[in-house]
Amino acid sequence: MPRVAILYCQRIKDHSCVGCAKCFKAIREKNGEFARYQDDIDLVAMTDCGDCPGLAAPRMKLLMETAKGLERAIDVVHFGTCMKAAMETAECPIDPDTMKVILEKRFGVEVVLGTHSY
Ligand code: SF4
Ligand code: SF4
Repeated sequence: MPRVAILYCQRIKDHSCVGCAKCFKAIREKNGEFARYQDDIDLVAMTDCGDCPGLAAPRMKLLMETAKGLERAIDVVHFGTCMKAAMETAECPIDPDTMKVILEKRFGVEVVLGTHSY
């Protein structure tokens, strides 16, 4: 069972998706970027991106240490669709391709851009 974590945009969360209900539904229905998983998804954690200006790496460090300490090491990190929207339509300073490479190399996880499709 893949252990998954979701990062959300600190600025958009609860403005575009209240209570992150869209991602919970998408996980249950394997919608959008969750369609890649054959098995059930073990959602280990959801946390913010570290806030502007693109402080995702220190947030990831804390997240990975916490998950490992709980013996629930994370396999895959999804940037929420909210982060994708911030990158594509606002002035989010995160370049997703660059950040993906940095986080995958540094933390040994797979990074996926996006979550639900709606
Ligand atoms: S895209 Fe997902 S993580 Fe981001 S605010 Fe919506 S439900 Fe939450
Ligand atoms: S705009 Fe980008 S860096 Fe700023 S809070 Fe949102 S995802 Fe994080």
